Amino acid sequence: MLEIKNLCVSYGSVRALDEVNLRMAAGGLLHGIIGPNGAGKSTLMDAITGCARPTRGTVRMNGVDLTRRPVAWRRRHGMSRSFQRTSIFPGLTVREQLELVASQLGERDLRGIVLALDLGAVYERQADSIAYGDQRRVDIALALIGHPQLILLDEPAAGLSTAETVSLFDHLSTLTAQRGVSAIVVEHDVDAVFRFCAQITALDLGRVLVTGTPAEVRADARVIAAYLGSAA
Ligand code: ADP
Ligand code: MG
Repeated sequence: MLEIKNLCVSYGSVRALDEVNLRMAAGGLLHGIIGPNGAGKSTLMDAITGCARPTRGTVRMNGVDLTRRPVAWRRRHGMSRSFQRTSIFPGLTVREQLELVASQLGERDLRGIVLALDLGAVYERQADSIAYGDQRRVDIALALIGHPQLILLDEPAAGLSTAETVSLFDHLSTLTAQRGVSAIVVEHDVDAVFRFCAQITALDLGRVLVTGTPAEVRADARVIAAYLGSAA
């Protein structure tokens, strides 16, 4: 479904992404991206979603070359991302925000998203007044609206406790499986990534060290040296 070939992004003399290759099948899988700070994880998400301009390489979805397509075009063609920004329009309730985006993108099962993400209790509250953990789930709800085929989440659990992180990934894996939407998730909590992601890519210095199952990645000598260290 997604095919990334030889993707490069440079910021001045910094090669933030260096010949990245990645393939991902359709069908509700979670694909985790791990790596130390500065590895290029956010740049990869930006380049896939059109927020960063590659100097070389291609991003294809279902065979269609998206590399030069604008963000909004990708959103309408099945690729969405979270922005870690719960309040699109200040003063709106969670319901008003979600309904607004749902009407724009022709979502017919907003109720299903709201129930699956346990947002019922905060539905009528002003979006910027709810607890941080609830805001993170609203972010995911916004990304899921409009039946995307692929969602990209950059550290959706940032700032959450370990228990909240597990709960968020639990919700995410249930929802993606139910709706058949695949997700690429950058996450610092490697325990959560190893537990919930079917495939994992480890990045370091803008390069892919390895892509594989949790067991393959955990056992990879380069990943242990660059990132996991004795924690593995
Ligand atoms: P990660 O998300 O894995 O921590 P990033 O993708 O944010 O890593 O950054 C990768 C590299 O690119 C780092 O060296 C970072 O300093 C650099 N970088 C990222 N964004 C920019 C930018 N907008 N301008 C200049 N350098 C950047
Ligand atoms: Mg980052």
